[in-house]
Order: sequence, then structure tokens, then C-alpha cells
Amino acid sequence: MAEVAYRAASRVFPGPPPVRAVDRLDLDVADGEFLVLVGPSGSGKSTALRMLAGLEDVDEGGIEIGGREVSALEPKERDIAMVFQNYALYPHMSVADNMGFALKLQKVGKAELSRRVQEAAAMLDLTHYLDRRPKALSGGQRQRVAMGRAIVREPAVFLMDEPLSNLDAKLRVETRANIAALQQRLGTTTVYVTHDQVEAMTMGHRVAVLRDGLLEQCATPRELYDRPATAFVAGFIGSPAMNLRTVRLTADGADLAGVIVPLPRDVLAAAHDAGLSEAVLGVRPEGLRPAADGEHGVVLTVELSEELGSDTFVHGLVGSDEGGAQRFVLRTEGGAGPAVGREIRVNVRDPHAVHVFDPSSGRRLAA
Ligand code: ADP
Ligand code: MG
Repeated sequence: MAEVAYRAASRVFPGPPPVRAVDRLDLDVADGEFLVLVGPSGSGKSTALRMLAGLEDVDEGGIEIGGREVSALEPKERDIAMVFQNYALYPHMSVADNMGFALKLQKVGKAELSRRVQEAAAMLDLTHYLDRRPKALSGGQRQRVAMGRAIVREPAVFLMDEPLSNLDAKLRVETRANIAALQQRLGTTTVYVTHDQVEAMTMGHRVAVLRDGLLEQCATPRELYDRPATAFVAGFIGSPAMNLRTVRLTADGADLAGVIVPLPRDVLAAAHDAGLSEAVLGVRPEGLRPAADGEHGVVLTVELSEELGSDTFVHGLVGSDEGGAQRFVLRTEGGAGPAVGREIRVNVRDPHAVHVFDPSSGRRLAA
């Protein structure tokens, strides 16, 4: 068991031009925590994980595991176990030998090795497959063997880099629940990398969002969703994505395609203090509602209605001559949505359903 800390840790790949793949990362992972690193492709997730594993240099700052500075240590001295996307198993070895291989190299005694392999196999539902070769297993079973290889080492920290990417969609959902439950049971500090925000939100105790090597926000899934710290996080977390649009500010609100959306007082004060005349306005699909009969509202020209059973997502264009038309999504109760081409009017549910960001820094304004 151990906590992990990145202390202004950077990895700069030599150029030209040099790439700051991870840029002064400050991040604390508590003992026993399941922390997810999420971000688009190229945002530095794998590099950050590999720095922790000792597979990539730490060019600036430091990294601690269990309070010990590890930047100068070899991977094998760090008490970590890693599960990769390509968890290449040894094809000529049985499942049991695959799982026990690292222990054998560490000269762990036969009885102890066998005990740990049996225990891990029981946890992973692999007991009946221990004598098989990897090729006689399903994709999901192979993935579990890869997990087993990490578990038997009883490391202080698990590191996982997109371990579910090779599974089909249904199995991925099942396996992510199994991994989360297993981590809970073992209580081993885990740093888990994924580009999939749904995976991040469902698995992580906390989620760290990376963009271009920079940490945008690290918070619980609930906080990320309810109070994204930046416009980037706002747009990245949630599906369908938050509606975001640059709008003109007025004395008491924001001008959204001719309709004044009232804003909370502290947001207006923050915008005023920052001298902003424009801001990025964000509203989630469930933060919009159809306007009542005769009520003023933002006009959406319907492009598509997606009926998902419990909900229907209505995609439409918010017209505006200056800004150009932009797509907005509204969530409504299930059922057939309005026909394509129809104009509907929508309003923001309440002022607190609105997120407002500084258009230059992207940072959240107040609230
Ligand atoms: P992610 O895992 O989030 O997709 P990576 O950590 O793999 O991102 O990459 C982050 C950035 O660092 C990217 O711009 C990538 O091109 C660059 N990068 C990764 N590995 C190397 C390397 N060995 N040499 C040079 N640039 C690299
Ligand atoms: Mg990666």
C-alpha cells in the first residue's frame, strides 16, 4: 500500500521541436485510491504513467511512491505492477505459468508462488483455466490473466494503460465493473489511463483530466460533471457533450442568440471584475427545456432526434448571422422528437444549470 505524488514532474522529449509531453504535473494519489488519468489522444497520459513506472525519464520535478522519491530508481525497484493495452501473454506457457512468471524471476518459493497464483485465479474466475495456453482463452479471459500477472506480485501500486481497449464494447463494460470491484477488494492504489470519459467517470474515485501535457482538473466524477474548472473539461466530460458557445454579456445575463439567459450574481461580478464583454456559456443537454407555449426562447432548427428509449436527444442549430449556426443538443423525455427541419424554442432550466468560462483562459468564472 502506498500513496503516489507527482511533484511538478515533466517529461520533455528532445526535438526539434521539443515536446513537453507532461508539463509540471502536480498530482497526489491517496493510499488505496483508484485514480484515472483521462484525456484525448496525445495528451500525455501514457507518458505520465510510464514516468511513474520508471519507463520514461522525469526531466524536471519528481515522483514519490509511499513517500520515497523514485525518479532515479529502476522500474523493478519501485514496487509497481503494470497492465498494458497489449498484454502480450507468453503463448507457450500455461495460464498459471504466465501469472507466476514474475514471481519465479524474483525467486519466490514454489509454495508461496502457487498460493498467490491460486488466490489471484480465484478472484479472477480463472481457476479452471490455469493449465490452458493463452490461445485457448477468450479475449476477456486473456485480459484477466494479464490482471492476474499484476495481482500476484502484490505491488504497492497498480498501473494500467488502456487495459480494456482490445475488448468488444459489451465485454468492456463488464470488465470495467470487475476491475473496479477487484481494486476495491484489494485496496491497492491504482493509476488507470483511458481516453474514454465514460470509463473514467464510472471507475475512478477521482479523475485527472489532461490536455496537451497539462492537468486541467482533478476531482471526483460528480465534481467534474457539476463544476468543470475549464471549458475544455466541460466539453470533454459528459455525453452528449455540453453545449458551449461564446456569447455577449449584458448587465444581468448572457445574450444567447437574442435571448437573455440570466446568470448568477457571483458570475456576473466575476465577469465584470475581469473586464469581460464576452464569455463562453455552457449548458448540458439536460439543462435545457422546451419553451412553454407563448414563451420566448432560443430558436433551434431541428437536425436530428435520437430516441434512446428513456430519453430523446434533439440536435438542432442555433441560428445567428454573426456567429454562424452552431449545434445544440437538448435532452427531453423519451418518445418521438420533433421532426427534422422544424423550429423549436428552448430555454435554460435555471441559472444554476449554466456554466460560464473566461473566453481567453478557458477558466470557470465563479460558482
Ligand atoms: P496519450 O497516452 O495521452 O495518447 P502520450 O503520452 O503517448 O499520449 O504522448 C504525449 C505526447 O508525447 C504526444 O505528443 C506524443 O507524440 C509525444 N511522445 C510520446 N512518446 C514520445 C517519444 N518517445 N518521443 C517523442 N515524442 C513522444
Ligand atoms: Mg496512451
